[in-house]
Amino acid sequence: MSPASHDAAADLPADLAQLTGVGAAHAPGTTAGDELLGRYRDSLMGVFGTPQRVLVRGSGARVWDADGKEYLDLLAGIAVNALGHAHPLLTSVVTSQLATLGHISNFFTSPTQIALAEKLLQVAQAPAGSKVFFANSGTEANEAAFKLARRNAGTPERPRNRIVALENAFHGRSMGALALTWKQAYREPFEPLPGGVEWVPAGDAEALRAAVDDTVAAVFIEPVQGEAGVRGYDDGYLAAAREITQAAGALLVFDEVQTGIGRTGEWFASQSGTAVVPDAMTLAKGLGGGFPIGALITFGGAASSLLSAGQHGTTFGGNPAATAAALATLHTIETQGLLEHARRVGAAAASGLRGLGFVADVRQFGLLIGFDLDADIAPAMVQCALDAGFIINAPGPRTLRLAPPLIITQEQIAAFVAALPGIYDAAQKETA
Ligand SMILES: *Cc1c(COP(=O)(O)O)cnc(C)c1O
Repeated sequence: MSPASHDAAADLPADLAQLTGVGAAHAPGTTAGDELLGRYRDSLMGVFGTPQRVLVRGSGARVWDADGKEYLDLLAGIAVNALGHAHPLLTSVVTSQLATLGHISNFFTSPTQIALAEKLLQVAQAPAGSKVFFANSGTEANEAAFKLARRNAGTPERPRNRIVALENAFHGRSMGALALTWKQAYREPFEPLPGGVEWVPAGDAEALRAAVDDTVAAVFIEPVQGEAGVRGYDDGYLAAAREITQAAGALLVFDEVQTGIGRTGEWFASQSGTAVVPDAMTLAKGLGGGFPIGALITFGGAASSLLSAGQHGTTFGGNPAATAAALATLHTIETQGLLEHARRVGAAAASGLRGLGFVADVRQFGLLIGFDLDADIAPAMVQCALDAGFIINAPGPRTLRLAPPLIITQEQIAAFVAALPGIYDAAQKETA
């Protein structure tokens, strides 16, 4: 069927087709996707540019657009859909929770909220006295961590009024999370931002040691820098950060928003090799398997008592539907052996990529994979990959990122690696 004659309404449940106004018929010569993107441009704020495609449904690691084209999803909504699309347990748990009790505010609690907090503390191997705060996104989790850091205030004579983050760090787009984020182009239009943040070169333990003293409230680190192109550190860097912050009385905050919940083949990237225990950890992306939820975990009694009653809050955070989704996600990762699967499938993908002549550097942490090309054609590669039926992402001009669902098969990734030379040729032609 040609895109122009594809019946997009038939891809949707009848009630959704009706609510969205997606009809079987569209203007001659245009497709359902064209028509919806026109409506998008007329109604949505331009901060994302024009989206690449209109997606209507998914199953496992595959999604379909409004014109009926199928894609292998190697990005998973930016490292979010850990269980893929339309996972049966996630779907049934969220549906039954919504049909029972969907939202209650934090004047009340629910069994799913409590069970999820317990489960997170267990997989984080958090010591006695550790606690969880639920938010709705990674940005909000980092905002809570920023406030936690401000509560490590020092004394009036010797205030801890500095916060140290890393060059190339990404922590989110709210004013606080933005204040921690390295890229000046993101920050500058919104200054003044919350103050006191400074950046040191990523992965340089001596630079960190030189910067951190008893005037520093906290050090924020992504255990692998995701938006920077999937970049880790030399062995021992996170342990050195732990030792340096401990000696100075500064909090060590790991932003595991992208790397947490099995993405790197461990529950948390900071558990790989010799586990490093932070004072606080932020989570989101994969946590709800696609349902919005974020979390701040504080390790031990001291960090867990910095924010006292009334000092932070949220209306939606930790609601029954979101915490049910996260419980189902953690349960599935555990019972289906997805940590081991992510390590094995990720390693096979990396070795395939390393065999390609135009791939310069492969950085693989479970199913979070970054690699560089031998030319600045990464955005064109993303377009040509779409045409070939693959969803990937370009965090830099010559860097590509893969963060597929943790349930992706070795055969599915191998199909992408096999298609990559053709995609590369097409992108070369397009940019020539
Ligand atoms: C995506 C991301 C965030 C922001 O999360 P949102 O859910 O988009 O608010 C923060 N930190 C890191 C490391 C991320 O990858």
